[in-house]
Amino acid sequence: MIGLLHLPPELHALIVQHLLVTDVLGLKLTCAYFYTLIPAPSHAELLQAESTDWARHRDVFTCRYCLRLRPAGQFADRMLQRRRGRAGRNSSKRFCIECGLKPREGTARYGPGAQVTIHGAFFVLCLSCRQFRPGAQDRFGRNTLECLACWGQRDSRRRGEGGQEL
Ligand SMILES: [Zn+2]
Ligand SMILES: [Zn+2]
Repeated sequence: MIGLLHLPPELHALIVQHLLVTDVLGLKLTCAYFYTLIPAPSHAELLQAESTDWARHRDVFTCRYCLRLRPAGQFADRMLQRRRGRAGRNSSKRFCIECGLKPREGTARYGPGAQVTIHGAFFVLCLSCRQFRPGAQDRFGRNTLECLACWGQRDSRRRGEGGQEL
């Protein structure tokens, strides 16, 4: 790596052009110099990198908004399945939870009450507190639109009022 750094920037740029997308991404992260020299990968390049063994091994996926390869746990399960899955026809439409929770007009996002499953666990963008938290299930085991805390509060209030249910 030291020897490589002694080459002129033009040569670095040339070398980068001949590397695989995943190698370029790896090189970009090795030091501040390469981080600045190598342009941020495009959405298409990330999707290309995503279908390599390198990405499969690390279980990372592309987000269309933050343009990063992120671990599977940063996405809703359904964002990683079928057409939105790795190399799927709609993989370019996939976005991570963090981006999904940022309100931005004109783009696909999670709204209040959105129910998201991550690695099989139920989360909700709570209708009451507007926080993204583990979601509550009602007594029939159905997913609700509230987080555990809000649902629990309401539940105990309900009991305090003499057990009247909606
Ligand atoms: Zn993102
Ligand atoms: Zn809540």
